[in-house]
Amino acid sequence: MTAAASLKALAQAAIDRRRDWIIDIAEQALRSPELGFREFETSRLVSEKLTELGIEHSRNVAITGVTASLRGGNNGPTVAVLGELDALPLPGHRSADPMSGAAHACGHNSQIGIMIGAAVGLMVPEVLRALCGDIELMAIPAEEFVDVEYRLDLQKKGKLRFLSGKQEFIRLGAFDRVDMAMMVHTSATAEDAKFSLGGTTNAHVGKYVRFLGKSAHAGSSPHRGVNALQAALVALHAVNTQRETFQDPDIVRVHGIITHGGEAANATPAEVRYEGRVRGRAIDVVDDAATKVDRCLRAGALALGASVEIVTIPGYFPLFNLCLIKNSQPTRRRGMGGGGG
Ligand SMILES: [Zn+2]
Repeated sequence: MTAAASLKALAQAAIDRRRDWIIDIAEQALRSPELGFREFETSRLVSEKLTELGIEHSRNVAITGVTASLRGGNNGPTVAVLGELDALPLPGHRSADPMSGAAHACGHNSQIGIMIGAAVGLMVPEVLRALCGDIELMAIPAEEFVDVEYRLDLQKKGKLRFLSGKQEFIRLGAFDRVDMAMMVHTSATAEDAKFSLGGTTNAHVGKYVRFLGKSAHAGSSPHRGVNALQAALVALHAVNTQRETFQDPDIVRVHGIITHGGEAANATPAEVRYEGRVRGRAIDVVDDAATKVDRCLRAGALALGASVEIVTIPGYFPLFNLCLIKNSQPTRRRGMGGGGG
């Protein structure tokens, strides 16, 4: 057995000894799903488990994030091992929190177990001593771009500048020393595999939109009102007219929800709020589609004599994985799913 292979065997044996403990972490996270920048319980869980492993760490990085450095015995690159803390708002999901409706439908609970499991293997003294380079463990908040009004409020209060956890980690310098980063995500198609490795994801921007009209009694004097809901409906229809202009290889996706549709059924809706996403395979593609979307949003307001406020929220660049990391995929993967929605 080569030196590297015997060190790998030592790390794997340490992980196997803590198998149930690691799976239990992922399952505990599954049982307390929390939306982004609200992952206080999950953050506490990570901190507690790192403490059990004797790993010093920083808490409250970008509100709920946790970071720890493991120093290798030799010089080399710094590799970040990431785990995402947040869940999605999906009240119908089988593991949804009955109060908040949050559920780990994206399987981020597994990532928390996996990140701590990786730490277990790396903390074997012989392994850490032989390591060429350092490891940054990062439990990161708010991967999902949801709950936008809550985050805009945090931004207004100066607690955030960007609306996702990795963006905030970059802003705060947590990635400054990092040469490469790795993370394992559960598979979106559970019947094919438990985990997805490699692959790409689209770039995106978020849209937070307010259509502003004028309230009036919808029965007796609708002619005095300006209907913000009709403005939004015209705008969304106009967005749909653009779909034939999107080219298949660009993988454009435009989607969203109305988060506030009016005040009362018998009042002309004076304010309607829409949250949406514009995605595409590259930044220029997103830029082009977002320009069309903005034009359509304004057209809806114009048609009804309403006004519209459009906030464009910086999302993510497209994600491409290095083959080097992709090809070193783990062969041991079992028992930590559970999200898979
Ligand atoms: Zn995810």
